[in-house]
Amino acid sequence: MLRDFQTDKTLGEYDVCVVGGGPAGITLALKLVENGLRVALLEAGGLAYSEASQSLYAVEKQGLDLYAETTRLRYLGGTSNHWSGRCRPFEAADFTTPLPTGLPGWPISFEEFNRTLPAAMKILDLPEIGFSATHADMPGGLFSADRHAQSAPTRFGEKYLAAMKSSPTLHVHVNCNLVDLVFDPGSGAVSHLVVADYGGQRARIKAGRYVLATGAIENARLLLNSASLKSAALPAFRWVGRCLMEHLNVDLGTFMAAEGLQANDLQYFTSQALVTREGVGRGNIAFGKLAEVVSYGRTAAIKTFMKNLACNLGVADKAQFITHFQCPGAGTIGTLLEQFPSAQGSRVELADVRDALGLRKARVIWTLAPEDKQTIRRLSLAVAKNFAEAGLGFVKLHPAMTNEALDLPVSPHAHHMGTTRMASSAEWGVVDENCRMFGVRNLYIAGSSVFPTGGGGNPTMPLIQLALRLSEHMGRLGARM
Ligand SMILES: Cc1cc2nc3c(=O)[nH]c(=O)nc-3n(C[C@H](O)[C@H](O)[C@H](O)COP(=O)(O)OP(=O)(O)OC[C@H]3O[C@@H](n4cnc5c(N)ncnc54)[C@H](O)[C@@H]3O)c2cc1C
Repeated sequence: MLRDFQTDKTLGEYDVCVVGGGPAGITLALKLVENGLRVALLEAGGLAYSEASQSLYAVEKQGLDLYAETTRLRYLGGTSNHWSGRCRPFEAADFTTPLPTGLPGWPISFEEFNRTLPAAMKILDLPEIGFSATHADMPGGLFSADRHAQSAPTRFGEKYLAAMKSSPTLHVHVNCNLVDLVFDPGSGAVSHLVVADYGGQRARIKAGRYVLATGAIENARLLLNSASLKSAALPAFRWVGRCLMEHLNVDLGTFMAAEGLQANDLQYFTSQALVTREGVGRGNIAFGKLAEVVSYGRTAAIKTFMKNLACNLGVADKAQFITHFQCPGAGTIGTLLEQFPSAQGSRVELADVRDALGLRKARVIWTLAPEDKQTIRRLSLAVAKNFAEAGLGFVKLHPAMTNEALDLPVSPHAHHMGTTRMASSAEWGVVDENCRMFGVRNLYIAGSSVFPTGGGGNPTMPLIQLALRLSEHMGRLGARM
């Protein structure tokens, strides 16, 4: 059932109230009703984009720009309304490799995490063939061909709208903004939520359990804005907002492909041997050919550089390599690299300024820790060397890869993770193995904010895996508190 909170303030009592109608919230809500529970799904936006809703995503920024206002979308379907659909699963090593920043990683096993992979793949309309690559591994054993899969891309608001509308036990309230979570220290539980429409009119909603599924920045912002949670001074609360992670999109440089290299889209992934040897994060390094612009612009400059080098250089082996080198393709090298969680580094805090509904805005601080800079520089050198040694072509690295005095050319991927990290105790994180906030009996968190480490793959399929796991857990708990 779909209700517009702007005009219809009817709110029932529910077993579970899920806040946020993106991939995490929609997946969870639909599974919970399958498990026989009465569910409310509160979505801040409507069925389409609106400035009134989107403007509430304005943030204050420090450090590198995360583009947090424009990359997230604040209406039914959430950011899946414009996501690209690339999917890559976590690997066993993501759950066992110690983090160089000294923080603990996943408190659950890879096998446990991956139980829900087949169901997540179905939800995302992934091909049955699974994760594959279109080319061979890079010789040398340090970079394998990256195996990934492409979702349609599934737009959750559109695809699952009919199912949500037709369910009698799921009430979807759109234009319904969560503005406060009210925690009762006596019972150790959230007693109710306060929601508001776009006129600022407020109401209360009650459920046995609550789930925040508003994305990594908002999950943290909403918790930090809750005065009752803050004053309860729960040990887990000091972790809220910390350890924000993104995937590092680094302009590593340019390359010229060797003659006869057929692949149009070369994507490699770091091997565990390389990650261990270099003490770096894992991730994807993609060589994108610029077939149409081989003779002008940036690639023209490299060509000239190489021609001159080949003619003038006194180094026989390099000159030989370059003179044998034709230029059927040239292009740029981009990455999707793991950023490590850092307790004192990237994070979400509250700014002093308030939004139109009275909530303090988020201050998003995105910076590179020394370990991230090490990942970028060491991986760039390793990939350039291996690419050339494998006879695939020639890499010209961005000057910042070898000169530590220069700023690294890093931009984000819109993969926000880690602000309510999962841990085995409140000493190290916000939620437990079942995504329940430590110290609060009935508050759960869904989405990539719970990732204690982000790996080198895309976050949406794993966050769906976790939402499915949470639905199983809540199904076992049933309607009772
Ligand atoms: C351009 C782009 C391309 C991307 N490509 C990929 C990709 O290829 N692969 C990949 O894995 N990921 C990709 N992503 C990331 C992906 O979109 C996110 O991982 C995913 O959408 C997160 O899902 P979510 O449900 O946790 O959060 P969201 O999708 O952000 O949904 C959160 C929901 O909560 C609602 N909400 C917010 N505040 C409130 C409130 N106060 N009260 C009630 N509701 C609220 C919002 O309106 C929204 O509907 C991409 C992102 C972008 C921007």
